[in-house]
Amino acid sequence: MSLSDPRASRTFCSQAWNHQFVGPGGRTKPCCRFRWPEVPEKNHLDRYDRLEDLFNDAFMNDLREKMSRGEELPGCQRCYDEEKAGKRLSLRQYYNQERHINEELDTSQPRISYLELSFDNTCNIRCRMCEPLYSTNWQKDWKALTGKEPLGRLKLDPEKLRSVVPHLRHIKFTGGEPFLIRDYERLLDFAVETGAAKNIYLNYSTNLTVPVSDRLLKLWEHFKYVELAVSLDGVGPVIEYVRHPTRWQQVEKVTEQLLSLSKFMDVRCGVRSTMMIYNILNLPKIERWWKEQVDTWSNATYGEESWFNPAHLAFPDDLSLRVLPEKDKEMVKRALWDQGLTRKSRKSMNHLCNYMLQEDHSQLLPRFRERTMKLDKLRGEDFRNLVPELAHLLSLS
Ligand code: SF4
Repeated sequence: MSLSDPRASRTFCSQAWNHQFVGPGGRTKPCCRFRWPEVPEKNHLDRYDRLEDLFNDAFMNDLREKMSRGEELPGCQRCYDEEKAGKRLSLRQYYNQERHINEELDTSQPRISYLELSFDNTCNIRCRMCEPLYSTNWQKDWKALTGKEPLGRLKLDPEKLRSVVPHLRHIKFTGGEPFLIRDYERLLDFAVETGAAKNIYLNYSTNLTVPVSDRLLKLWEHFKYVELAVSLDGVGPVIEYVRHPTRWQQVEKVTEQLLSLSKFMDVRCGVRSTMMIYNILNLPKIERWWKEQVDTWSNATYGEESWFNPAHLAFPDDLSLRVLPEKDKEMVKRALWDQGLTRKSRKSMNHLCNYMLQEDHSQLLPRFRERTMKLDKLRGEDFRNLVPELAHLLSLS
């Protein structure tokens, strides 16, 4: 690597050279984490014919130049914060060392090889932490909750992405619920038609309520590898509350289907739960239940190599673990610390406790209370019955 190689710069991020995030309705940005306020309004595919037009425009060129000179970008602040806080790998550093997306990286010729797609908000559920931008099912409650008109369905003509498909190595699908979004399948069709599919890894974030269709299973046979990150945010009534109107029986059925795929396809399935006030005490139970399912349905045994990755919720900020009063944080810590079944999951649980204890955001409790009580009323649910250990949060004044 020569000194003039952008990769030698302290703020270099490969995402600026080989990736695009295509968000609701077709708004684009350098990665999922890059701050929206730092993205020009014009970064929207409704104004362009092809994704490359945006990837090669002045905004992205300027970003690459600044990164090459070692300048910090305001949109990337969360990565720099992670580095300053001593996290083992910030997202930037994680992407820079990912071989399968970077092995063909040529910094003199930026080219999209990794896409993250969230352009369609079609979804069958309305999670407590979500909003209409990412779920069509949120529309009704949104009006009652905020008085604002909901957005309706957001979508994009997949033809605008067709020209990047032959060079792709990795596609990540979020949503909406990816298994309900038919336009995502059209991209897979393009990849099969051009012969690119055999080089592409697929990664889905799915809500565990929609089985994989036969058509999708047939398409997956053409691809290199498929990863399924399931949003198991609770067991039984806890997931039903967090991810309304999820039904637990359906979660059990879909879990069986997804885990069983590993017996006849190159598919890996793991947990990516989002932890917040509503479900944090359920975490040890979530892991025990997931272990039972892996041991029963998949071709592997649950252990250190298993994918179980609970992460803290950052937004909406009033649902964050940091909002809990000090004595509740201590109670949560006693329930979680070193409780994981593997060394890795113990580390994750301890990391969640450290995150929770690092900052006091208890001033947001009134907002937590208001949001929770309003939605409980709208949905005929009751946080106090669901989590009696934290029921007092709704009666504090
Ligand atoms: S430095 Fe972080 S926020 Fe910026 S493009 Fe890279 S991964 Fe995204």
